[in-house]
Amino acid sequence: MQRPTQPGDIAREAIKRLATRRQPPTPENFARAYAEVEGRERVNADWPATLRSFLQQWEGRQTGLTQARKREMFERVLINFGADPDQLALKLANLARSWTESGAAARLDVAESAGGVAGPDTGAAAPDQAAPDLALRLAQSLQALAAGLRDRWGDLADQAERLAEAFAGPQENTADAIQRMGALWREILVRAEDDQELLHGLQSLLEILFRNMSDLAAEDAWSQGQLRAVEALLQERLNPYVLHEAERSLQEVIARQGQLRDELREAQRKLKALVSTFIDRIGELSSSTGEYHDRLQGYAERIAKAEHIGELAEVIEGLTADMGSMRETMRRTHEELEQARSQAEAAERRIQALEQALAEASAMVRSDQLTGALNRRGMEEAFERELSRVARLGSPLSVALLDIDHFKRLNDSLGHQAGDRALVHLAQVVQQLLRPTDSLARYGGEEFLILLPNTAAEEAEKVMQRVQRELTRQFFLHDNQRVLITFSAGVVELAPGEDRDSVIARADAAMYRAKTSGRNRVVRG
Ligand code: GH3
Ligand code: MG
Ligand code: MG
Repeated sequence: MQRPTQPGDIAREAIKRLATRRQPPTPENFARAYAEVEGRERVNADWPATLRSFLQQWEGRQTGLTQARKREMFERVLINFGADPDQLALKLANLARSWTESGAAARLDVAESAGGVAGPDTGAAAPDQAAPDLALRLAQSLQALAAGLRDRWGDLADQAERLAEAFAGPQENTADAIQRMGALWREILVRAEDDQELLHGLQSLLEILFRNMSDLAAEDAWSQGQLRAVEALLQERLNPYVLHEAERSLQEVIARQGQLRDELREAQRKLKALVSTFIDRIGELSSSTGEYHDRLQGYAERIAKAEHIGELAEVIEGLTADMGSMRETMRRTHEELEQARSQAEAAERRIQALEQALAEASAMVRSDQLTGALNRRGMEEAFERELSRVARLGSPLSVALLDIDHFKRLNDSLGHQAGDRALVHLAQVVQQLLRPTDSLARYGGEEFLILLPNTAAEEAEKVMQRVQRELTRQFFLHDNQRVLITFSAGVVELAPGEDRDSVIARADAAMYRAKTSGRNRVVRG
């Protein structure tokens, strides 16, 4: 760019530079910027005063500044301005003044004085100028953080270690390291929040489980064993995988409840049988009373026709015997009816309990039975959780929708069961490459939705491409034949204020573009 020559233009340009560097327009700053634009620095070199104040600060102690650090700053000034005595005097005076202030202020000043010559692009924020002692302290803190994370999240501990090394070593790309530190921090927050949610989820899960089990499985050894297995699992350190395992066991319990459903049917069948016994008994009762009625009629006729007392005695004897057996029949029938009634009531109570337990069990299912991924309900919950996290932390959230290519063809050629296994295989491969905080949901038949919290779209796109590559390494095997599964995917990042349906619709549109532009690709929308 042409250097301005008119005083007005030079002044305008000088003010612009001050604004870019965020320096206040003090007379001194303005004079310096003006001289810079003009092509010379206005310097009134006062070497004796400069050296006096420099020496004073050199020998003095300043908080946050080591002697080595001061030497380094001094050498930098020497390297940058050693060839120009006037500039050198000015920079040394500035350096000495900055040392009278705090360590952080001194760092800024040095960065600034180096930037003054190199231009605004490598100015005050130049990352490689960060004070080494501060960087060292950061490195130590990161080491401590890594040690704290190691037990819990090994991958984050590794990241913290790498960052510590980056800060401890020569700082070539501090800006990048600081950005990575921000991302690490957010990831820790996200996982810590997940922990809380896991615990809450687990609590309610256990509550329902225990309630159901005690109702249903008091005498069921299998379910009791399963319950103990879940309990043992939960003794381990809690993480999403453990929870996943617990859920899986629970699913087995749910399958068990499928058997209970059969028992329920059996109980209903019994109840019906009892009711028909009831009816039969009543029928028998009325027919037996009818029979006795006929017999009584017979006795009455015989009494009427009786010629002598002997005959009557015979009738009375028969009548007494019949009355006795009639009373016995009545009593027995009555008892049986009572018994049937209480059995029917017990069966009805059991049916109610089983129905309630089944309703609760099915309300708990959050995962797809075939692939183990989240089902729609699970996905909706995960989405809600992530959206509220975005609102709280302002972290990015990416959403990917993938659809297997030509899946119908695979089904047609290898059979539906092979298709099912291919779905399981795909879900496993995806899950392997996701972080614990990501969620995989089966969105439809051969469509999967992936939520990637704390991930920008570019990174999410890379994750999906990694899945594509992994599918060319881990083939789906059918009858020992390698079958390549490919998919088309759309990846989008949640826009500010956007809701679930809208972001899914955008991911779907991007996926559609991936299909129409040839399949087996990832399109960022
Ligand atoms: P495209 O590349 O355009 O996506 O082709 P496609 O054949 O995959 O697409 P389409 O949506 O027409 O077919 C999806 C097929 O997936 C149809 C259906 O039979 C099959 N499918 C859906 N759910 C399941 C499942 O649970 N198991 C099996 N084996 N197949 C399923
Ligand atoms: Mg489809
Ligand atoms: Mg498909």
